[in-house]
Amino acid sequence: MHSVTVPRRLPIDVNAALHAICSTGKGRCWYCDVKLPPESEALHEGWDVQRIDDQPVANIILVCPHCLRRETASESRKLARFG
Ligand SMILES: [Zn+2]
Repeated sequence: MHSVTVPRRLPIDVNAALHAICSTGKGRCWYCDVKLPPESEALHEGWDVQRIDDQPVANIILVCPHCLRRETASESRKLARFG
């Protein structure tokens, strides 16, 4: 009997992903479309790299610190409603 466990979410190496996207010079925030700063600034400011799996092709997206805070805030509100 073979049961292969396929993780639904692959872990992302944020630093490596930021490095790769910065090197293309085409990174933008998925939500507000602000331009990704140079790699060292992006790391310092707390840019995040996330994966969207509910699309035909899994997408890697960038989230700026501003939108990240907003997203976290709305998620904790949702959790509070369920809790
Ligand atoms: Zn943003």
